[in-house]
This record gives sequence, structure tokens and C-alpha cells, in this order.
Amino acid sequence: MKIYNTLTRQKEEFKPIDENEVRMYTCGPTVYYYAHIGNLRAYLFMDTLRRVLKYNGYKLKHVMNITDVGHLVSDADEGEDKMLKAARRENKDPFEIANFYMNEFLKDLDKLNIDKPEIIARATEHIDVMEEYVKKIIENGYTYETENTIYFDTSKLDKYGVLSNRNIEEQKAGARVEFDESKKNISDFALWIKAPENHIMKWDTFWGKCYPGWHLECSAMGYKYLGDNFDIHTGGIDHIPIHHENEIAQSKGFSGKIPANYWMHVNFLQVNGGKMSKSLNNLYTLEDLKEKGFEPLVYRMFNFNSTYRSSINFTLETMEAAKTALERLREGYLKHKEGIEDVDTSIIEDLEKRFLEAINDDLNMPIAMSVVWEIVKNPIKSKKFAKLIEKFDEVLGFDLKNYVPEQNKKLPDDVIELINKRNIARQEKNWAESDKIRDILIEKGYNVKDSKEGTIVE
Ligand code: AMP
Ligand code: ZN
Repeated sequence: MKIYNTLTRQKEEFKPIDENEVRMYTCGPTVYYYAHIGNLRAYLFMDTLRRVLKYNGYKLKHVMNITDVGHLVSDADEGEDKMLKAARRENKDPFEIANFYMNEFLKDLDKLNIDKPEIIARATEHIDVMEEYVKKIIENGYTYETENTIYFDTSKLDKYGVLSNRNIEEQKAGARVEFDESKKNISDFALWIKAPENHIMKWDTFWGKCYPGWHLECSAMGYKYLGDNFDIHTGGIDHIPIHHENEIAQSKGFSGKIPANYWMHVNFLQVNGGKMSKSLNNLYTLEDLKEKGFEPLVYRMFNFNSTYRSSINFTLETMEAAKTALERLREGYLKHKEGIEDVDTSIIEDLEKRFLEAINDDLNMPIAMSVVWEIVKNPIKSKKFAKLIEKFDEVLGFDLKNYVPEQNKKLPDDVIELINKRNIARQEKNWAESDKIRDILIEKGYNVKDSKEGTIVE
């Protein structure tokens, strides 16, 4: 398997430390709001990486964090904690906010059929682990204190900026924001922060009532579960210049090592050629896509239009094309499943080889999909092709084996009866009756829509 390593800026042969088990870490979400489809692209990339590693026979020990404290509005220690801001917005306790959006996030992963990491670790449940980690960095002489913050002193490192390959001077020159005057170097960052009196998220620690800086959780939890040197670390490209540099700095301060051998970063999703943002009203969630008629797996298909290292542009037109593609894939699979023709083993082997080459070339999903389309389009209908698609689906993740065409989904008799009654009521323009039946259906857990053909339930 070849993967692109941000650390060395080249595609490299992947060699795990332990040949049977790959240990990896993914920077998880900050759970202050619903995940948008950009965030979900990052976890679809994580999913593909997991699936490709498994397809190659590796066992995985994979950790993903849930950030529920410490991530400030700006990644560079500026502004308010995102969790507290959300708590104020919704007039709730920050822990309630975290629980709610973490569960929503996990549901989104399920809807997208994302293979979840073996270990999902919440920052607030690892404060003691972070405390021990910080104490060791202090002991090793990499920190200094100001009135209310323990900072990491980046000038103590032989080099800060190994991933983005920038030095401290360049950072200074490129800085857009005034930096905290109490910091010695612009790239220094907060490890441990004294909580103001009215701060809700704080813990009794060796330095009084404090809360941790955002970057610390990943270093500390990565170390706890994976040790001081593991295989792969993943995140979004936005993590390269600050968050991952700081993780590396912390690990060097802690153990002298760069924590992971390979660093992989997923590029951004853009919307209509630009940034996705609330103010532009183009920030979509899976729920928004559903309202536009796209089931979550369509978004999975859409992402295979590009490799994870390229940015991808979201438009409703490309989503329509992905929707059609998913339908074709399902139809093609079912067609072959019913097939009775034979196919030469050499043809199967060739397809298998080319699929493997594509996914093992730094997860090249567009090429892998082109092999899948060859099979789907093949006029010979054969169960051997269906079996092969099932095998490839271990990587694609469309859960084709369990796909049941819409028209075959059987509704319970009482629901069918209600639908019929409602259709009659609508024909008679008896809206009160029709609304009443709709409410009964909703109560039974069905989503009711009206169409030219009558009542449709989901
Ligand atoms: P956050 O919850 O802000 O920490 O972000 C969660 C993940 O989403 C991180 O890995 C980010 O790199 C990633 N991310 C944020 N915006 C986008 C985007 N537009 N496209 C792809 N990934 C994104
Ligand atoms: Zn992280």
C-alpha cells in the first residue's frame, strides 16, 4: 500500500510498526453543533482508510477523540471556548450540548455507514490523563507560566513546524492577529489554563481550577491508547499548520518523539466553488440533504468523485449525478445477482487486481470506481460479478448486500389501510380527516408526503 505522508511530502510504501495491527489516531469533531457535510467528508476519508487497511488484511487499533472542551473559536488560542459559546446560544449546560451533538454525530456516522474507530475517547473523560501528560512536559523543561496559562515554549524545540515546514520567523511575518503579549513566541500555545470564576468547564488540578488547551487532548489520549510511536495520524488539511504542529511539539516535549510515522490529511469540501459558511447560507447537514431528496449514501458516492487529497466542489447537480450513480450501482449489483452466466476466472482476477492497485495507490477511489462501473455495465449477467461487487463493497461501504429496493419494502397492513383511507379522504377533499390520518401515521413513526400519486410514507 502506498500512502501520501504529509511529514515527508511524498507517497510512501506503508510499513506498519507491528505487521499485524495498525495503530492510528483521527482528530475527531468538536461537538458544539451538528456536523456539516464538510466535516463528514473528513470522516468518510477516515472510513475509506479503515476499510482499505482491513481489505489488505490488517487489524486496526484506531482512536478518535471527541472534543468537548478547550477548542477555542480560533485554533490559535484566541476567543472563547466553542462549547461555552454554544451553551450560551442554546441556554444549556455545556455538558448537555456535548452529549446531544456527540450523539447526533455518531448517528450521522451510522447513516453514512462509516466504520467507527475501535476507541472513541471524550476529552472531558481524560482530564487526569492530560494532567499527567502536561506535568511531564513541564518536568522536561518545555514550558513557562504566565499569570493564568501554562504555555508550550516552541523555541525549545530543534524545529517547530515540521509538517507545514514553516519556521517561527515566517509565522510572525504572516500573522494576521495580534498575539497575546505574554507569549514568548508567536507559535507558543496554551497547555493548561486557569479557569475564570464563572467558567463552567473546569477541574481541580495541580495548578488550581483549570481546563486543558485543545491540542493537548490528542497527544495525551493518543499516548494513552497507542503509545508514544504509532503508525498513522489523520485529520483535515486545516490541522496541518497549528493543531498537528502543536501535537508534534507536545509529543517531542513529552517523549522526544514525533507520535506517528505517517500523517494523512483530507482536503476540503467547497460549496459552489467557495467556502461553506453559515453566513452564506450554504452550510448543509445530512438532514438538509435529505430534505433535498438525497439519502446519506448519495453523499458517500459523491465523495468518490475525487481523491481525498483534492478539494471537491459540492453542487446540487453533482449530487443528482451521484444519486443516479448509486441507483445504477444497486441495479447493476441486483442484475448480476440474478444472473446465470459464467465468467472466466482471469477476467475476475484482472478486475480484482486493478481495484486493489487503485485503492492501494493512496486510496484512489475515482479509479477504483471506474473498475466497479466496468462490472456494472458488463452485459454478461453473472453471480460471479455480484460476488465481486460484494467484495469491493467492503471498501466502498454502500451496504449493497442488505439493499432492498424501495418497491419491495413491505409496509404493515394497518399502515396500508391508513394510506388508502387517507387517499380517499383527500379525493373527497376532506382535509380534516386526511390531516387526522397523517398524524396517526406520524405517530407510528412514518414520514408522510403528498404526491400526485397520493400519500407516500417513509
Ligand atoms: P471540527 O469539528 O471543527 O474540529 O472539524 C471536524 C473535522 O472536519 C476536522 O477534521 C476538519 O478538518 C474537518 N473539516 C472542517 N471543514 C471541512 C470542509 N469544508 N471539508 C472537509 N473537512 C472539513
Ligand atoms: Zn487532534
